[in-house]
Amino acid sequence: MSARLAIEGGAPVFRTLLPYGRQQIDDDDVRAVVEVLQSDWLTTGPKVNEFEDKFAQYVGAKYAVAVSSGTAALHAAVFAAGLGSGDQAITTPMTFAASANCLLYQGATPVFADVQADTLNIDPAEIEKKIAPQTKALIPVDYTGHPADLDAINQIAARHNLIVIEDAAHALGATYKSRRIGALATMTIFSTHPVKHITTGEGGVITTDDAELARRLRIFRNHGITTEARERQEKGGWFYEMVALGYNYRLTDLQCALGIQQLAKLDQWLARRRAIAARYNAAFREIPEIEIPTMKPECKPAWHLYVIRLNLERLRVGRAEVFKALRGENIGVNVHYIPVHWHPYYQKLGFKKGEYPVAEDAYERLISLPMFHAMTDAHVDGVIEAVRKVIAHYRR
Ligand SMILES: *Cc1c(COP(=O)(O)O)cnc(C)c1O
Repeated sequence: MSARLAIEGGAPVFRTLLPYGRQQIDDDDVRAVVEVLQSDWLTTGPKVNEFEDKFAQYVGAKYAVAVSSGTAALHAAVFAAGLGSGDQAITTPMTFAASANCLLYQGATPVFADVQADTLNIDPAEIEKKIAPQTKALIPVDYTGHPADLDAINQIAARHNLIVIEDAAHALGATYKSRRIGALATMTIFSTHPVKHITTGEGGVITTDDAELARRLRIFRNHGITTEARERQEKGGWFYEMVALGYNYRLTDLQCALGIQQLAKLDQWLARRRAIAARYNAAFREIPEIEIPTMKPECKPAWHLYVIRLNLERLRVGRAEVFKALRGENIGVNVHYIPVHWHPYYQKLGFKKGEYPVAEDAYERLISLPMFHAMTDAHVDGVIEAVRKVIAHYRR
């Protein structure tokens, strides 16, 4: 007999909820932020440039532009790419809505292409089917931190003269064919939200090797104005020009000081995420009701998320019941993602359920388990114990 589930009155595996992701802030992070608070520049100061330089160097790109969120990074990239009304870009339905929303902000139209069944990354063969004369860009997402099929995507882009905006919000530190994510697309965007690999509270970064795109990104984050306050102060002048309709998408020096500290710890944290994934894989490989994440040999994922898929034909219940039972055990499970085109806003735009069957089938079966670098081995083992307990209970 299996142990009694917490939702049926048994003892939960954890006494309090273990979240699916969370940040780590150390004393040196706090000191770095306080130092900036006591300095002359709270925003548009020297910490912004330092964070950008270190970020660019880490990912191996020539330029990094820091902005106020990953969503702002996507919006800025769509602006810099010159997309507007009448233009289309192709992205995946298996992502956070921001990957597609960024097109709508600029009056462009998102077009979805279904995903590959193994990695749940956008399928290059499906992209080909969606290319139209209006197509200007591709927006692949490195789902869970496993790089998309970038060589195939870049080849399609070259053939059709398209810009590639890689949404690497999950993939900071991942490699594709031994090259770091960050300089493998025309522009690559990252997020520094607290659930991501490093945090600045809120924040985002765009990296590129193209000087003109970097210039346009900097203008966009600063109201469309060509110089920043500090440049004007240093030059002793007052003149400035607004040349495009930009936004205030700046990241503060407080946040960049935190980002600099966090970036220095990233390699150690990635190693921990990879060790957690290996421990999960070893345990879940033995459970036929569960499919573990695919890892392609040419990729080293960054493990933002650890997503299992349930073999529902082997279970007496659906994903919702398994999810509820795991939450009962105080495992902070989540679902990444409800396909973007299923959201009411996209339904109103005319997108139809059933058009992307691979993504939609996966959605019905997937569950994200806790994955963050500060998890202890006892946390990992508790998650494994809870999954074993719940699956044993609902096994056919
Ligand atoms: C987190 C995330 C974003 C948006 O980042 P924010 O910093 O929260 O605005 C965009 N795309 C994907 C795939 C994400 O996971």
